[in-house]
Amino acid sequence: MSPTYFIKTFGCQQNEADSERIGSYFQNRGFQRAKAIYQADTVVINTCMIREMAENRVYGRVNNLVKNKLKKGKPDKIIVTGCMVGMAVRDKSGLFMKLIKKRMPYVDEFLAIEEVGFDLPPLRSDIVNAWVPVSNGCNNFCTFCVVPFTRGREISRPYADILAECRKLAGEGFKKITLLGMNVNSYGADLIVGADNIQVMRDIDKKYFRPKDDRPMTDKGYTLPGGRKVKPVLVKHLNRLRIPTLFPYLLEDIAAIEGIESIDFMSSNPWDFSDRLIETIAKNPKITRKLHLAVQSGSDTVLKRMNRWYTRADFLQLLQKMRDKIPGVEFSTDIIVGFCGETDDEFRETIDLVKKAKFYKAYLAMYSDRPGTAAHRVFKDDVPHPLKKKRWQILEEMINRPYLKKIQNSNNKLQIKSKI
Ligand code: SF4
Repeated sequence: MSPTYFIKTFGCQQNEADSERIGSYFQNRGFQRAKAIYQADTVVINTCMIREMAENRVYGRVNNLVKNKLKKGKPDKIIVTGCMVGMAVRDKSGLFMKLIKKRMPYVDEFLAIEEVGFDLPPLRSDIVNAWVPVSNGCNNFCTFCVVPFTRGREISRPYADILAECRKLAGEGFKKITLLGMNVNSYGADLIVGADNIQVMRDIDKKYFRPKDDRPMTDKGYTLPGGRKVKPVLVKHLNRLRIPTLFPYLLEDIAAIEGIESIDFMSSNPWDFSDRLIETIAKNPKITRKLHLAVQSGSDTVLKRMNRWYTRADFLQLLQKMRDKIPGVEFSTDIIVGFCGETDDEFRETIDLVKKAKFYKAYLAMYSDRPGTAAHRVFKDDVPHPLKKKRWQILEEMINRPYLKKIQNSNNKLQIKSKI
C-alpha cells in the first residue's frame, strides 16, 4: 500500500499555491493523499506568521498532532514548512530556528519552501480557476510586515515558464487564472537588471546600497519569449520612475491565450501601479474589474510610519484615474487598525478615506507586532486591544456589513427564483 500524506495550509493564496506544488512533490514520490489529517503517514504543515494569532494556531495544530503521534503512532512524520521556516532560515542569528524547534520539539523536518521550488506542476484543487505564481518574496519592507523576512527578496519566475503554464492550463480546460505575487507590479525587475536592482535600497543590510543618483535602471529593451522586443515599464521607487517591470506585457500575453476567459491578480501596490498597467486592464475585458489595492491607512503620518510610499491624496487620485479609465472597476482593500501610535485623529482620517474610496470589501486587521520587522524594533505596539477592536468594528460596519448584506440579498433572490 502506498504511503499517505496530508497538507494543512495556513495563510494566504500564495501558501495555497505552494501547497499545490508540495502535493505534487509527494505524488511524484508515490504517496497518496490521505482523507483526513490523523490518517496520514506524513503531515505537512504549511505555516503563516503574518499575525501572532496565525503563528499560535500553527503551534496549536502541531502540538495536537504530536499528542496523536505519541498516543496512536500517527502521523509517522511531521514536516513544517512555509513562512515560519522561511523566517528561521533567513535569520542569521539562528535564534528564530532555535525558538521554533523549542516550541515544536517533535517535528521531524523543517523544510524551506525553496527546496520545493517552482519547477513541479502543481496538484490543483480547483477545476476552473488556477493559481499561478509569478514571483516570490518582496523588496518593499513596509515596517509592519514580516513577508520580506519570511519569503526573502523578490524573485520573478521566468516569463516563458509562466506563459507555458498558462497555455497548458488553457489546454486542460481551465478558464480562469489568478496570478500571484507579493507585489505583482514589480514583476520582472530582477529579470531585467538582476537581483541587485534598485529596490534593494530598502534593505536594512547596508552592503546592498547603490549610489543615490538618477541613472536610469535600463535603457535597453527586453526580449520577450517569441522574440518581441519591448521597453520595460518603469514604476515608482521613492517617487521616481525607475524600477523596470514587465507585468503589463505578461497580462497581455496571457489574455491572448485562447480558452482563458478571465484573469485576476494579487497583490498590487498603490505606489507602483503604472499608467501602462491601467491601460492594459482597460483594453482587455478578460482582465478583472475587481481590483485589490491595499491602502492600510488613510492617514499620511501613519502611512509614513508604515513606510508606504504614497499619501491619502495619491491613493484617492489613483482610484479616480482608474474609475475614469476602466468602466465598471471596483476596489477591495486591506486596512490595519491600531498601528503603533495611531491616534483618534489618524483613525478618523482612515474613516474619511473609506467614505471617499467606496471600497466594496476590505480585509481588516488589528495590528499585530511581528518579530524582525522595523515596527517591532522602532515603535511601540501601544494601541490597547479593546481600542483596536472598536476601530476594527467601525470599519467592518462601514465596509463589510453592507457588502455581506448585498450578497445575502442576492442569494435570497436566487432562492426565491428557484422556488418559483
Ligand atoms: S508590499 Fe509591504 S505589505 Fe506587501 S508583502 Fe511587501 S512588505 Fe509586506
